[in-house]
Amino acid sequence: MPTAIASVERLPHLLTLDGLGGDRIHALLDAAEALRPHALGGTGLRQVLAGRTVCNLFFESSTRTRSSFQLAAQRLGADLLNFDVAASSLSKGESALDTLRSLRAMGVEAFVVRHAEDGAVAALAAAAEPGTALLNAGDGRSNHPTQGLLDLLTIRQHKGGDFSRLAVLIVGDVRHSRVARSALHGLRQLGCRDIRVCAPVGLMPDAAELAGCSHGTALDAMLEGVDVLMALRLQRERMEEGRVPSAAAYFNDYGLDERRLALARPGAIVLHPGPMNRGVEIASAVADGPQSAVLDQVANGVAVRMAVLRHLLGA
Ligand code: ASP
Repeated sequence: MPTAIASVERLPHLLTLDGLGGDRIHALLDAAEALRPHALGGTGLRQVLAGRTVCNLFFESSTRTRSSFQLAAQRLGADLLNFDVAASSLSKGESALDTLRSLRAMGVEAFVVRHAEDGAVAALAAAAEPGTALLNAGDGRSNHPTQGLLDLLTIRQHKGGDFSRLAVLIVGDVRHSRVARSALHGLRQLGCRDIRVCAPVGLMPDAAELAGCSHGTALDAMLEGVDVLMALRLQRERMEEGRVPSAAAYFNDYGLDERRLALARPGAIVLHPGPMNRGVEIASAVADGPQSAVLDQVANGVAVRMAVLRHLLGA
């Protein structure tokens, strides 16, 4: 019997999927699923957050996350402040916390924050006044919980809700990926027993983070029986020089192409959080092919973010 989101204790913030528990994660996914008919347009839910204010506060660039939080807030009828970090007093030395407090004083109740530093959003949440909801839209290499939820929702839609029967392979720059960390948090709590991590030695996370996963450096050998393949971008902005060979050499060893996809289970789906570097971690034939669920992920992102905003704001 699924747990309805209205019956689970309301979270004050969404900072990580770690520790949320399988019931709450499924309840959030159910809530997102129910919102799907409204996620891509329409005015049916414009009263849900009418009169409430949400702020996007992005210290790092973003296409999908920022846009989909904006659309999610608007489709629920919230006032949305897209705060321009570069043009703000942050460039005059004002701290992120003082910025947040000032915006709070203007009536902003929920802040969607992306930051390059690990733990930065949690630190803001700890210091913010009660009643302020912080949504982590990606901090450093640590967490990207709404990405994790949209990945789980996409998997559930394509492969069903019994994660214990699925084999999921995460390939690429796992070491620097907050997307991979949130996926690992979520998959473990939903009972996935066959999680495989494939990366070159320099891009493999520390052993403690691989608890319960099988891992290796040879991609072809890890593809057999895989239901879900998640490819990741090389996070060059978080890497020390020289960790990775050239793009061509990387594609040769770790690029997801049609030949490799054919080694997975028939009907396997391909995920990628974007931005995609075609010809580096994924071939266009796979990214645009029939097994790609990349645009489903994007569409699900709006529904997931609507569900999370609604939950955190108690609407
Ligand atoms: N968009 C994702 C993130 O912000 C993945 C990436 O940038 O490669 O983490």
